[in-house]
Amino acid sequence: MQLPFRLQRFVYLDNNATTEPWSRVVKVIARTLRKAWGNPSSLYRIAHDSAHILEDARNVLAQVINAESEEILFTGCASEANNQVLKMQVDIKPDGRTAVLSSPIEHASIMTSLEYLQSRGVTVQYLSVDTLGRVGEADLRSKLNSNVALVCIMLANNETGVIQRVAELTNHAHDAGALVLCDCVQALGKIPVDVKALGVDYATFSAHKIHGPKGIGALYVRKGAPLAPFLHGGHQEHGLRAGTESTHNIAGFAAALRLLAPAVTGRELAQELRTGIARLCPQAVFHSAQEQSLPNTLSVQFPGTANSVLMGFLDFRGVAVSAGSACNTQANEPSHVLTAMGLSAEAARETIRFSLAASGPHATRGRDVRYVLQSLEEFFGGRAPSIGMLYPAQLEERLLFQDDVWIFDVRHGYDRLLLKSLPGAHEASYPYRRHYGQVPKNKHIIVVCQAGFDAPVVAYALRARGVAQVSFVMAGMLGWKLQNATLYQKHAGQNIQVLAHGEVTK
Ligand code: PLP
Repeated sequence: MQLPFRLQRFVYLDNNATTEPWSRVVKVIARTLRKAWGNPSSLYRIAHDSAHILEDARNVLAQVINAESEEILFTGCASEANNQVLKMQVDIKPDGRTAVLSSPIEHASIMTSLEYLQSRGVTVQYLSVDTLGRVGEADLRSKLNSNVALVCIMLANNETGVIQRVAELTNHAHDAGALVLCDCVQALGKIPVDVKALGVDYATFSAHKIHGPKGIGALYVRKGAPLAPFLHGGHQEHGLRAGTESTHNIAGFAAALRLLAPAVTGRELAQELRTGIARLCPQAVFHSAQEQSLPNTLSVQFPGTANSVLMGFLDFRGVAVSAGSACNTQANEPSHVLTAMGLSAEAARETIRFSLAASGPHATRGRDVRYVLQSLEEFFGGRAPSIGMLYPAQLEERLLFQDDVWIFDVRHGYDRLLLKSLPGAHEASYPYRRHYGQVPKNKHIIVVCQAGFDAPVVAYALRARGVAQVSFVMAGMLGWKLQNATLYQKHAGQNIQVLAHGEVTK
């Protein structure tokens, strides 16, 4: 990968968002596309090769998670698999049961499907979690009744890494006659996953979290558990998920599964990071437990520091981390996981997730952790380049129309359809760095994005290019419109200049 201007290293600590594919995986995918491109449902040799790839991959996944190969269905992603199990609740209502119980810290693919279920008349109730995000057995028992059809509890959380006692919780659910869906996406490859030992009825998986390709997931359905077809059409995936199978991605998934590390590692490095952070920033609060949590995940609150600013600085230093779930970073909302654990919205907005790679083509190494600590030391030691932070209320008419202010609007085209730009803004589209050369160095640059996460990254990059005064707008256009509804009505979308692509920054 080509490193942007002035970076010393590239350290990727966002492995819960996605992982770098093994080169073996890339090779297998390319070979499948070239040599085994037949339709697995057809009846000649090249098609048989494709059908064999499917069956082989089913066997490999079944072996890894201790299932039977007939219990595995391939899906377009884990989100789809979660949707499939949840949305069928509207139709199947086993024994007339119409309620779903769920932990409140599930992935967005579950949380938003649950909202949909509620809109379709299904009763959804949330279990409580303690300050470490653990679901309590007593609370589950007290909420189970003869109307509960499904209980939804993830094995390991993507933001904090907390691991639930799924086997025990499943026993209680089964005693009450309910089925259990367990999202195992983050657990696979990091801790052992044995669906029989967990006892769950449905489990979901995703290849891109284990150094495999994106766009392929899997659903485990225990023999005998009901499943309604999700995509209607051909007879693929036992007639339950129509559509010609993505054989190259499935082959890539199998290759990644074959490369899963036999012994789970990585805790020592996460511990080194934890100790180093505690030393540098004694007020830091750790939301990840040291035990009963994923060995690679560290969720840390840095009180008094907006996570978007620290993320922007770390990006400037070549370190990729996130504020929590990748699915929520485009919205200006605090993490639902952290708030369910009892944190305030402010504390959630001061929290960063580091997720290390225990394996993969570039497994995290000691020197990566030390580089991150060195970067944090620079930041907390006051040696980071200064960027200004404007609260939406501070960006009022007087500042907006100053001659020496230059507004740099960095948003996706779709976001601009939802919200117009600030008056006089210069609109740049992805990749923003193509436009950096057009930004004047002698003006006060105000960077604004949709929700406040992209802008600090751009602000630090501009400082690195010699722009003297750069500020960004907290909470982005979403926050600004909320605070300044009248100004938005009056001025937004006026005299905008759309920047033509400049030269790509080396
Ligand atoms: N479940 C969890 C816990 C996840 O972390 C993710 C990915 O972020 C998903 C589900 C969705 O996976 P996919 O990207 O395959 O839809």
